[in-house]
Amino acid sequence: MHDNKIQTLLIHKQPAETALVDVMQGSSRWEIKLHEHGLIALVDCMPRLVPEGQTADFAIVQSARVSYGAGTKKVNEDRGLIRYLRRHWHSTPFEMVEFKFHVVMPIFIARQWIRHRTANVNEYSARYSVLPDRFYKPALDNIRQQSKTNRQGGTEPMDALTAQQFLDYLDETEGAYQTYEKLIESGVARELARIGLPVSAYTEWYWKCDLHNIMHFLRLRMDAHAQQEIRDYAFAMFELIKPIVPVATEAFEDYDMGGIHLTRLELEAFKTGHPLATDNKREQAEWDEKRAKMGLGS
Ligand SMILES: Cc1cc2nc3c(=O)[nH]c(=O)nc-3n(C[C@H](O)[C@H](O)[C@H](O)COP(=O)(O)OP(=O)(O)OC[C@H]3O[C@@H](n4cnc5c(N)ncnc54)[C@H](O)[C@@H]3O)c2cc1C
Repeated sequence: MHDNKIQTLLIHKQPAETALVDVMQGSSRWEIKLHEHGLIALVDCMPRLVPEGQTADFAIVQSARVSYGAGTKKVNEDRGLIRYLRRHWHSTPFEMVEFKFHVVMPIFIARQWIRHRTANVNEYSARYSVLPDRFYKPALDNIRQQSKTNRQGGTEPMDALTAQQFLDYLDETEGAYQTYEKLIESGVARELARIGLPVSAYTEWYWKCDLHNIMHFLRLRMDAHAQQEIRDYAFAMFELIKPIVPVATEAFEDYDMGGIHLTRLELEAFKTGHPLATDNKREQAEWDEKRAKMGLGS
């Protein structure tokens, strides 16, 4: 018969089979400073405690093995299993690892970053609080010319005179900060006063994401086609997670960052030695880039 009485729940706590160690070595924060005012800090991760001698890669293997069931461990080598999972896009085991970051970055970078929808985000409120007086300014030798081939980018340095004009222009926009402060003192709502500030002003947030989606973020934002400033953050993020999931990040470097995906047309051109069967200039340029990467010349 069904018992309607509230039952006492018994929690069975099992002692750890081996000693557990903190993957962040007891630290509450691993931080990398970027540019003049920016930073990215790793503030937590899951799993935080792992069996001694292991890394957080352990959580990927642990969840992947449930697929095989007890006693049927067909794949018994952890590194090999993680690399197999990565090569074959078995993504969910990588979602078992999570990282939480504190990021301080200019608003124009935050706008690109927020497009990655699978993270949990909580941002500084410029309605509640006054924005601090800090703005991003690239170094003189990092002021780039508009690329002639890529409409979105620029890599070649600008001549010194124009670069200086650009910095003067940034100084002018930063000048808005004094007016911003004055208007707040005069009683204008912070939510309105802020709208005259440039997108080089800094914001900050906590950003939590699982490893699968972090690798997706990194693949897009460490890539040469991403804007230099967000790439700096992506590379720093990669440095922070590398010691915690060394096997997964090695697989990511080997298969995602260091590898090449070939289209059917490219494979055909490779096999036959014929030109790429396309009249699309961009597709041709991408094939030329891949040929160069493969050491085939352009
Ligand atoms: C070099 C570069 C240039 C860019 N230029 C522009 C631009 O000019 N204009 C512009 O608007 N954007 C631009 N973007 C942003 C880009 O289009 C993506 O919005 C951004 O990279 C996030 O990618 P994502 O959606 O794959 O990632 P996430 O949002 O992290 O999503 C990860 C994956 O989850 C799945 N997913 C998440 N949410 C959904 C959903 N609601 N429905 C279905 N599937 C979902 C998708 O498979 C997705 O690939 C650019 C990005 C890069 C890297």
